[in-house]
Amino acid sequence: MSQTLACPSCGTSNPLPEDLRTGTFTCVSCHQELRTAELADGASRSVDALVGWMNEAVQQPFDPASIATAPKLEDESTAVRPMPCLKCGQTVDVPLDLTAKQVRCEACDRTWPVSAYIDDAERLQLDMARQVAENEALKRLVAEGLDCPSCGAHNDVPDDHRVQLTCTHCGATVRLSDHVEAGAVARRRLKHGVFAMRDELVARQEAAKRRERTIVFVLVGGMVAVGVGMAALSALGGLLGAWFGLG
Ligand SMILES: [Zn+2]
Ligand SMILES: [Zn+2]
Ligand SMILES: [Zn+2]
Repeated sequence: MSQTLACPSCGTSNPLPEDLRTGTFTCVSCHQELRTAELADGASRSVDALVGWMNEAVQQPFDPASIATAPKLEDESTAVRPMPCLKCGQTVDVPLDLTAKQVRCEACDRTWPVSAYIDDAERLQLDMARQVAENEALKRLVAEGLDCPSCGAHNDVPDDHRVQLTCTHCGATVRLSDHVEAGAVARRRLKHGVFAMRDELVARQEAAKRRERTIVFVLVGGMVAVGVGMAALSALGGLLGAWFGLG
């Protein structure tokens, strides 16, 4: 993948669509059709799917069953911990991602629950630490800015929902997930997307009080249902508190 979202056909740097649910877009130069899924990271695309889903969910009477249909956030950890197999002693890479439930030893062909090696509480702790570290790296990027990979010019990185920026010097598109973990960019996008949704709801003051409550339940239920659980709630920080404070 190019560091400046270059069109595979003509090499021109292209901005991604504002809504990453958009399946295809057209190269600004040669008009070749480009696929968003090939150029935007999966984490940010999953955020747009989830925020889109939440926006639709709050337009309808609250239905707890609908939470099962919430799109899943893509934010897997790829980290592993090498440990000796419980049966044969050969080294196995035990996944630290919370959604991984089993680990197989290639040497003796035995499969064990991951929890036989590392308990889920420790994995949750490690995953929260990972998310915090990734968020800190993004904060540093926002504080320091970045150098355009195409021309080297220094650019500010605004603290908003964006996944990309346009170099102020050469116009190249710079994808933030090429500079920090995609998960951190996606979590920030989710936070801003949810804030925007809340602001819109508050603006529609008439039915607001009831709907704010509904949306909190939709959000919390949805997060837990899609298996993000505590880690994502922690990443959202004081957001829920801010919401409850509105009532
Ligand atoms: Zn092109
Ligand atoms: Zn083994
Ligand atoms: Zn540049």
